[in-house]
Amino acid sequence: SKAALFDAENKVKVTFKDVAGLEEAKEEVQEIVEFLKNPAKFTVLGGKIPKGALLVGPPGTGKTLLAKAVAGEADVPFFSLSGSDFVEMFVGVGAARVRDLFKQAKAKAPCIIFIDEIDAIGRHRSRGATPGGNDERENTLNSLLVEMDGFGTDTGVIILAATNRPDTLDSALLRPGRFDRQVSIDKPDINGRTEIFDVHLKPLTLAGDVDAKKLAAQTPGFAGAEIANVCNEAALIAARRNKKAVDQQDFNDAIDRVIGGLEKKNKIIS
Ligand code: ATP
Repeated sequence: SKAALFDAENKVKVTFKDVAGLEEAKEEVQEIVEFLKNPAKFTVLGGKIPKGALLVGPPGTGKTLLAKAVAGEADVPFFSLSGSDFVEMFVGVGAARVRDLFKQAKAKAPCIIFIDEIDAIGRHRSRGATPGGNDERENTLNSLLVEMDGFGTDTGVIILAATNRPDTLDSALLRPGRFDRQVSIDKPDINGRTEIFDVHLKPLTLAGDVDAKKLAAQTPGFAGAEIANVCNEAALIAARRNKKAVDQQDFNDAIDRVIGGLEKKNKIIS
C-alpha cells in the first residue's frame, strides 16, 4: 500500500483542450469552474454552490482527466485519492486520512478534491452486524459524510468523485448537499475517438498514411485510455523497427496488441 496520504498538485497543467470529446460533460462542469474562480459572485445572492458532483462512466473514459482539467481551468489546487487505497486499511487510518485531506484542502481553498473509485469506500452500508468486518470502510465512509456536511458551500472546496458503479453507492452519498449532481461520461463514438486520436497523435512524428478518422474506425469500443495506449505502443513499435516516422502498419500492430491485452484481461475477470 502507498505511503502517501493523498496526492496534492498545486499547479495543474491539464485543461479542457486536453480532454477530447465529452462536450456535454465539459459544459456541465464549466459551472464548477466558474464557482471556483469566483465563489463570492455566486453566494452573494443567497445561492448554494453544489458541494460535489459524481462523474459516472466506464473505466478509461477520462473521468480523472476531466476532474483535473476543472482544476486546471480554474487554476486551483487538485487533491486526489483513490477509494481502492482504503481497502484493507488498518482501523482508524482511512477516517484519519479523509479528515487530514479535508483539513489541507480547506486551507488551500478554492480547490478540487477528487476521489477516484468512490464505490470502494461508498458501497451501501450493511445493516446490522458485519461478520468479516467492513468496519473500516464504513468508518471511512462515515468520516467522508461528516466532512462533506461540515463545511459551508462558501468554503470553495468542490468534491468530484468517479465511479463506474453508481448503483452500488450508499444513498447517503447522493443526498442533497453531497454528491447531488451526476455527470455522465460515456465511451466515445467514432467522432469522439477521432478527436481523442487527434490529441494523442499530436506529439508523434507521423508518416503520411496515418489518419485519425481511419484509426477511429478501426477501434470500435475503445475508451480514451486504450487510444492513448495504442498511440504510445505504435511509437514504440516504430522505434524498434528503426523507422523515422510512425506509420499505419505500426498502428495496425499496436491496435492488435491492445486488443490482445483487453482479451486477456477479460479472460481473467470471467
Ligand atoms: P478509471 O475509471 O479507470 O480511473 P478514468 O475514466 O479516470 O479511468 P482517465 O484516467 O482519465 O480515465 O484516462 C486515462 C488516460 O486516457 C488519460 O490520462 C488520457 O491519456 C486518456 N484519455 C481518456 N479519455 C480521454 C479523452 N476524452 N481525451 C483525451 N485523452 C483521454
